[in-house]
Amino acid sequence: MEFLKPPVGEKMPSDDDRYAVARRRMVEAIVAMSLEPSGYPPRPISEKVLSVMKEVPRHRFVPEEAIYSAYYNQPLPIGNGQTISQPYIVALMTELLALDKQDSVLEVGTGSGYQSAILAEMAGKVYSMEIIEPLATRAAKLLGELGYANVRLKVGDGSDGWPEYAPFDGIIVTAAAGHLPLPLLEQLKPGGRLVIPVGSWPYAQELILITKDQNGVPHQENILPVSFVPLTGGY
Ligand code: SAM
Repeated sequence: MEFLKPPVGEKMPSDDDRYAVARRRMVEAIVAMSLEPSGYPPRPISEKVLSVMKEVPRHRFVPEEAIYSAYYNQPLPIGNGQTISQPYIVALMTELLALDKQDSVLEVGTGSGYQSAILAEMAGKVYSMEIIEPLATRAAKLLGELGYANVRLKVGDGSDGWPEYAPFDGIIVTAAAGHLPLPLLEQLKPGGRLVIPVGSWPYAQELILITKDQNGVPHQENILPVSFVPLTGGY
């Protein structure tokens, strides 16, 4: 963690101050990476996304033993063989969704709940599905404690989507699929955006953006090579 030395006569900074400084450093690292993704065109992250990432307390979403690494620009283990994604990738995927405050968004792969919290700051309603029950339970408790009342969680296989609340303005999948699960495409609104890593674990994956035009026709853009844990379940 960043250590702030107080000027003579002033009191020590609180933990909250230190975490805020560390978050600012994390956002600087995200900006640097967004302007120089090796071999790919720069994809600037908007102030709207960066300002949310400066606020959401990532240290609350990582296990106790990883708390001092919480604001490094790297993925971290969260238990059950799963990870919280790299902050740069969280920012990029959020940016690609181009969310508005009244949008409803489906997340497949709640994990720690960190990405859900970022989405909750950007959209009106967040529906998040997690296949590993203990992770979903922990994320639900934490998101409740942090006051994210616009996030609804469900334990289950997210590759089937969540038909009850479909269609969605945005869909984000935070685990790598061998192919795009069709129910997710069907549950995307015309004009909506879907972000998903596609390919096999661990190194042959590409982050894909699907944009559905107003006629319901999907268009695909390959964004970046990535490395995500696999999407499991029966898709
Ligand atoms: N967004 C998460 C965060 O902020 O911590 C990171 C998610 S982690 C990279 C991927 C998550 O997807 C894991 O928690 C994993 O259990 C979950 N997952 C994998 N397959 C799934 C499926 N079919 N349905 C729902 N969740 C799934």
